Amino acid sequence: MKVVLQNLTKKFPNRGRKARGEVIAVNDFSFEIPDGELIGLLGPSGCGKSTTLNLLSGLIKPTDGKIFFGEDDVTNLPAEHRGVGLVFQNYALYPHLTVKQNIMFPLQNLKGAKKLTKEVMQQKAYEAAKLVQIEELMDRKPSELSGGQQQRVAIARALVKMPRVLLLDEPLSNLDAHLRLQTREEIRRIQRETGITTVFVTHDQEEAMSISDRIVVMKDGVVHQIGKPQEVYDNPVNLFVAKFLGTPPINVFSGTIRGQKLFIGEEAVLETLGVPDQEVYAAIRPEGFVLNPKGVLGCTLKQVEVMGRDISVVSTHEALEGTTIRSIISSESKVELEAAQVRFDVKPHKVFLFNKETEERICIKKETGEA
Ligand code: ADP
Ligand code: MG
Repeated sequence: MKVVLQNLTKKFPNRGRKARGEVIAVNDFSFEIPDGELIGLLGPSGCGKSTTLNLLSGLIKPTDGKIFFGEDDVTNLPAEHRGVGLVFQNYALYPHLTVKQNIMFPLQNLKGAKKLTKEVMQQKAYEAAKLVQIEELMDRKPSELSGGQQQRVAIARALVKMPRVLLLDEPLSNLDAHLRLQTREEIRRIQRETGITTVFVTHDQEEAMSISDRIVVMKDGVVHQIGKPQEVYDNPVNLFVAKFLGTPPINVFSGTIRGQKLFIGEEAVLETLGVPDQEVYAAIRPEGFVLNPKGVLGCTLKQVEVMGRDISVVSTHEALEGTTIRSIISSESKVELEAAQVRFDVKPHKVFLFNKETEERICIKKETGEA
């Protein structure tokens, strides 16, 4: 099922005593989610992720704009008629019901022609349970389950009606690191198997990058970028997106463009064809540094952290915005631990320039003359 968000806007009255006016939780959001895709809605806390999801589910009404499921305008359709499956951070299972009764619950409210027999309901509950691999736990109560198992029950309950759209709001936040990893793979598998168009909300960039077909990066109610995870990582449109994606985070320097070259401090580190002279932010991904004693950029070495496959070189530079530079280097490289200075070359495609005022990306022309 294709899902279309058309100029979707949600304003809330601001109830704060000092602040007046309104909060624009979602601001003019337009996007067409292709049928069967898993979309990761990503951004810091308070950026409007849950509001967007609640608009899709029908729990709240937009101030402006429309929502379509396929060709149906569902903007004014109540939540119970939209055919959405919802999963929240807290599993919200009914404690006095068994797993089976919890999963069957959404089916029991079906009325009229849609009313199901007990056998059919049990069959559907069993199929949903099988999908999330909890069919052995059907007779337990939620209190007898681990967090991960409870969340699976919640997912099974969301799936039992075979929803047109599956909406997940930070579904893994209450799980420990290991379970989080396992459950996210599980969600991806279930989504692929069922082909249900899914919106997955998270503030965790790694989680969103790893399971999404496409990510939507939001801040303050505004969508900043939409794209395949790798594309967004490799081509951030602004400094916010560049900083939000990637661990360790991107290293941001104050730089100067002079004569089609990027200077960090007094050192020319990169050709910047077609970029007019100006002050810029130069952001370099941790994997964009290459150790070289004769390299273009000298930094003050702080420490070297061994991470197994790679090593992380921690250094500083006076032009750095922030405290330390983290560069990821293959562990085969030799770093002189005693040296006060470390020199790097930089990989051109791992360096991004941003306008100092607008923080929008400045593109560097390639040798061929194309932007
Ligand atoms: P997220 O899920 O990304 O953390 P939310 O969508 O919950 O963010 O909230 C976005 C903004 O809207 C926040 O500033 C929040 O305070 C505000 N907001 C959310 N719900 C309400 C509400 N019912 N009334 C007033 N403001 C709200
Ligand atoms: Mg939220």
